Amino acid sequence: MEPDGPHSDESADVVVVGAGSCGSVLAGRLSEDPNRRVLLVESGPGHRIPSEYPPELVDAGVLPVGPDSRWVWPYPVNLTSERSGWIARGRVLGGSGAVNGGYFVRAQVDDFEHWPASWSFDDVLPSYRSIESDADFSGPWHGTDGPIPVHREPRDRWHPVTTAFAEVALAAGHPEDRDKNAPGSHGVGPVPLNIRNGVRVGPASAYLLPNLGRPNLTVRSGATVTRVLFDGTRVTGLDIVTDSGRHTIRASTVVLTAGAVATPHLLMLSGVGDARHLRGLGIEVVADLPAVGSDFSDHPEVVLPYRYRRPVSRTSRMPALQVTLNTDDIEMRPYTASFGDLVPGSGIGRPCLGVVLMKPHSRGEIRLVSADPGDPPSVSYRYLESADDRDVLRSAVTHAADLMRTGAMSDLVDPDGVDTSDEWLSEHLGTSLHLSGSCRMGSDTATSVVDDRCRVHGVDGLFIVDTSIFPAIPSRGPHATAVMVAERASTLLQLSS
Ligand SMILES: Cc1cc2nc3c(=O)[nH]c(=O)nc-3n(C[C@H](O)[C@H](O)[C@H](O)COP(=O)(O)OP(=O)(O)OC[C@H]3O[C@@H](n4cnc5c(N)ncnc54)[C@H](O)[C@@H]3O)c2cc1C
Repeated sequence: MEPDGPHSDESADVVVVGAGSCGSVLAGRLSEDPNRRVLLVESGPGHRIPSEYPPELVDAGVLPVGPDSRWVWPYPVNLTSERSGWIARGRVLGGSGAVNGGYFVRAQVDDFEHWPASWSFDDVLPSYRSIESDADFSGPWHGTDGPIPVHREPRDRWHPVTTAFAEVALAAGHPEDRDKNAPGSHGVGPVPLNIRNGVRVGPASAYLLPNLGRPNLTVRSGATVTRVLFDGTRVTGLDIVTDSGRHTIRASTVVLTAGAVATPHLLMLSGVGDARHLRGLGIEVVADLPAVGSDFSDHPEVVLPYRYRRPVSRTSRMPALQVTLNTDDIEMRPYTASFGDLVPGSGIGRPCLGVVLMKPHSRGEIRLVSADPGDPPSVSYRYLESADDRDVLRSAVTHAADLMRTGAMSDLVDPDGVDTSDEWLSEHLGTSLHLSGSCRMGSDTATSVVDDRCRVHGVDGLFIVDTSIFPAIPSRGPHATAVMVAERASTLLQLSS
């Protein structure tokens, strides 16, 4: 890994921007060709070997994204017109995949109906298989020799709330869902996790660290890209800022993997976006693509707080989630600890059951507030603007409260004043941090930003490979799909070298 500061030979065949979940996979795969020089640029700190990782990045039992975290970008957001807050995105080698909850569940078959024809479930299944080593299942749906270890927690390691929740969900008639990574999965069952022996194994540890010795792979950490440079519509390089100042990297091929907030931010700063919006801020337009930053989606989550009726204990490094209940458009999450314990410093002390809308209709928008790269963009979620979203969440919250008041759950927990008014929902509303679709893949340049080979429309030499290109948010957490997309993109990108 290169130290921060100016570099004598700042050029490469391909520059990958952002060593997060997708960037780690892509740089790992692209550098398998010894004739291709790959430069991976990451804003956050880098680590060479797993033992250099600080303990909180390794421990799968915590999400180190609280207000004092050194490993995140905090973005101010508006969840609704009345609710503001902030969201965290990973800013470290491994990105959000190095700080996340370790839930590693595939999208469902019908999620791919919203994707271009060349990204059907049958097309992507080989990539889902090749990213994983599933310790519990093999056969046609599963991989057994990929870089990411996947397992489900056995019952004898379940937290009391996991056991009680699974029991009442089954008693209420929900089917048992033994394998959430099989097509058609629904019901209550164990969550596939990319965790081994309590250690989070994200894309950086699986794809990048083992390959840092390759002479054709350079990782430049502590370097923030501020602009993509163009000659006309052809990419010529990047501006970066490090501790030692501003530098330019020359490159004819750039892949943005900066994540679903930073990628549209960077595009707009570079003149790629809605022309009227950019001109209003004095930015010269390179390509008029109104879909940059528009109509993104995420999973709104309402949390139902409760008190334990008796003391319960959680073993160290226990994952945040061991089972979920998935119905058509809802996921229920019996967290194994309060957010105060899961996210050190967050101060949110009560244990809770999460009720999450997995197929939301409401769409959000990311826009620049200024042309200064140091100003975070505005992120408006517009959650619950759709009446359908409010209705589905309301009835799911009612069902979740009923589950908490029956059988083993009522013996264990005392729900705290659950109600389904708009005010109560809004007060208990949060987000799953699954932001997707802010630079969607498609063929129409009015509604999409990249084609089905991840090329940015209207410019040459620029690609995007991260969750911003998802045409719609999957009805499961996005991490497994992000890794799959990067794995598949590494074979699809038509690079100049
Ligand atoms: C706290 C948290 C918990 C989550 N839990 C789960 C979960 O359990 N399961 C699940 O399925 N999903 C989860 N997610 C979502 C999932 O982790 C992300 O969707 C996924 O990791 C995104 O991958 P990405 O490659 O698109 O972006 P990221 O992994 O965020 O990577 C982007 C990288 O680009 C870098 N970068 C950004 N801007 C620049 C710049 N200008 N210059 C240089 N580098 C830059 C960032 O520092 C970062 O390293 C969680 C997310 C968070 C934040």
